[in-house]
Amino acid sequence: MSERIQAPRGTYDVLPDDHAARGRVLRVAENVLERAGYRRIETPVFEHTELFARGVGASTDIVQKEMYTFDDAGGRSLTLRPEGTASICRAYLDHGMQKLPQPVKLWYHGPFFRHERAQAGRYRQFWQIGAEAIGSDAPALDAEAIVLLATVLDELEVGGLRLRLGSLGSPETRAAYREELQAHLRAHADQLSEEVRSRIDLNPLRAFDSDHPGTQAVMQTAPRLLDRLSAEDAEHFAEVRALLDAVELPYEIDPTLVRGLDYYARTVFEFTSDALGAQSGVGGGGRYDGLIAQLGGPATPAVGWAAGMERMLLAAGDAPIPEPMVDLYVALDGESTARSQGFRIAAEARRAGLNAQVELAGRSMKGQLKQASRLQARYVAIVDDTGQARLKDMDAGEQQEIPHTDVVAQVLRGRGLR
Ligand code: AMP
Repeated sequence: MSERIQAPRGTYDVLPDDHAARGRVLRVAENVLERAGYRRIETPVFEHTELFARGVGASTDIVQKEMYTFDDAGGRSLTLRPEGTASICRAYLDHGMQKLPQPVKLWYHGPFFRHERAQAGRYRQFWQIGAEAIGSDAPALDAEAIVLLATVLDELEVGGLRLRLGSLGSPETRAAYREELQAHLRAHADQLSEEVRSRIDLNPLRAFDSDHPGTQAVMQTAPRLLDRLSAEDAEHFAEVRALLDAVELPYEIDPTLVRGLDYYARTVFEFTSDALGAQSGVGGGGRYDGLIAQLGGPATPAVGWAAGMERMLLAAGDAPIPEPMVDLYVALDGESTARSQGFRIAAEARRAGLNAQVELAGRSMKGQLKQASRLQARYVAIVDDTGQARLKDMDAGEQQEIPHTDVVAQVLRGRGLR
């Protein structure tokens, strides 16, 4: 026998039993977002590599280490999308959406790909639901986006939620702050952990996350980006917070919140859930006012978020158990006439809108009745070679003998459909 081929590491199959819960997440998100004027968009699963190199940022972990990039037969470098925002911005420009009334509000759902270390809650193909609102720098748009994600998570009964909120200011503020922080770290280099010291040039912000006592003492007196925001950026951030206060959505200001994508400016936020393990991020996002210009479009402010399907499923309350699906099970008690009549009845029933199954496995009558009860069929029609059928109402425990041709009409009446 040949060796069986396994699924690639970090991927998983979505099995039939998984769809009730996934469908619920999708429906909740769709309802919440469409009520707020977001409309669904789908973009291709692969794009030109250049889109992500420019859009996500060449220095990010995603672009440096995690992209599935390949040359197609025409020699063009393509990449399986690692995130949604850059593609949505490309589509916004491609379809002249800047001519529509602004902001343009879009939402999406689909698979994304990152070559990450696979573990619980972290996959190489994962699904995100995301929302992007493009064409306005109003703080109310940031607050609205945050409130909508909170509403989705709330309706899904995601437990132990925390919202962390920060502001990154402008790229210029950030660059100046980074230098100031690096100077502070260098001045106290002898107190820092080996790891933090070696990353001063590359990633000084990581020092805020260190659990090394010496490093923590140094960080106590470190400058904070939030204190360095320009007056305008600080006012924008204050307005976002005031609006969250107005709807009584609790949040924690986190001056160290940095997100893994280069394009953020001003507001950044992240929802985490205690119900999850190490990978506690359920969803997050922020404002990306510079991104569309970076992709060759006109300067266009925008804000958005993405939330992970797997993490929402792990942290959400139980999905309702779906109703039994089968209205009619057609059992065969005979030879070729029974087979062809049974086949015809099932086809007619489906055209009439019923969920119908016909015996296909050559089971004995006992086996067929067992299968019908496993499927929780409401009616069973036992079809023979004589043109008659015994129709059993499985709830009422009643049985009647009727012509083959009346079976569907009878079941429709019984289901209150005619
Ligand atoms: P990001 O696009 O990195 O801001 O991620 C947004 C959300 O997507 C996270 O909060 C997670 O819920 C989810 N997510 C990101 N990467 C993965 C992954 N590799 N596996 C599963 N979920 C992920």
